[in-house]
Amino acid sequence: MRLPAKATHQQTRAFNEGLVLRTLYDLGPISRADVARLTGLTRTTVSDVVADLLSNGLAEELGRGPSTGGKSPILVGVVADSRNVVGLDLGEGAFAGALVNLRGDVRLTDEEPVNGPDGGEAIAATYRLIERLLAAAERPILGIGIGAPGVVDTETGVIRWAVRLDWQELPLGRLVSERFGLPTYVANDSRAAAVGEYLFRQGGRIENLVAIKVGTGIGAGIVLGGRAFQGDGHGAGEIGHISVVDDGTLCRCGRFGCLETIASTRAIVVAARVAAAEDPTTALAAPARNGQYPTLDDVRDALEAGDETARWIVVAAGRALGRAIAGLIGTLNVERIVLLGRVTVLGEPWLDAVRDEARRRSLGPLVEHTSIELGSADDDIVMLGSSALLMTRELDLVPRR
Ligand SMILES: [Zn+2]
Repeated sequence: MRLPAKATHQQTRAFNEGLVLRTLYDLGPISRADVARLTGLTRTTVSDVVADLLSNGLAEELGRGPSTGGKSPILVGVVADSRNVVGLDLGEGAFAGALVNLRGDVRLTDEEPVNGPDGGEAIAATYRLIERLLAAAERPILGIGIGAPGVVDTETGVIRWAVRLDWQELPLGRLVSERFGLPTYVANDSRAAAVGEYLFRQGGRIENLVAIKVGTGIGAGIVLGGRAFQGDGHGAGEIGHISVVDDGTLCRCGRFGCLETIASTRAIVVAARVAAAEDPTTALAAPARNGQYPTLDDVRDALEAGDETARWIVVAAGRALGRAIAGLIGTLNVERIVLLGRVTVLGEPWLDAVRDEARRRSLGPLVEHTSIELGSADDDIVMLGSSALLMTRELDLVPRR
């Protein structure tokens, strides 16, 4: 938060409020005198602002601290549950939502099934999920943070293009904000996941991180210097539609040979279906005997049973992703790379292929200290990340643990 050169009285007050709130949040329980000392504000200003924060419930008095000579001072801190944020993950198969408090603790979760790429129905499902969460909320709601697939302009809340949901130039942020009368922040889901990983799993202790989410789509979220990097056209990390195969197969985006056509869960399942049709002796053909197609879980089962065809498919997918990661390592030299999403059920054989290929195609000194790890299996990371982005924008608070 930067104070404008010619600040009005109101702006000054808002700035001071933000500064005091952030200090209470980051360092509380803390005395008013210490807040004044640390912020450079006068004790009168701090007392006025704290009085406001106490009356609107954002802060509370938490007993007395040690005396430094005179009367022992009253300590003040932020009330984590004074506000909740609605965090959404417009994921595959289902949209998930949560009520999250100001410390990033999930208070309630809900889900809304979504079938197929019907853009209108996807909007309706988003509304239904938010309606239910708001109805269940027991605390005032600060706002709504949404992690959505595709290219998202976070400044305007416009989804430029989400292939999976068939959304193009959709002003989702404005629609949601107007419908529910709440501040709304929309971010790309991989970017929200990267922020969630950075703040809640790595505790904000590192500077840079890349989180790559692999499901039916593939996207990377990039945190540089502690901030989510957007790119000039809001598409930073959209690696899923980089064309990696010459004369490759048709992608959902209308072009050919995209990374998604070889490394996504959809690509893996399609390859398994083709293999099952060609070779009835492979373990992948087992579901076909019951008239069903192999799923990603069937691929994993076949892999664990030692099926060579399954192994070949999984390794090919892992290698393709590893190639893309080598590009990221060479460009960004980021040493912490976290892999998320459904594909991680494939475990070590897939992860080894990703790592081997990324290392093989990168300059030695660059990969020496690079870790490529599976992220947390918890599937609330996008909801946590999108709610944290909303909190940062609305109150300038950065939750972490
Ligand atoms: Zn594509």
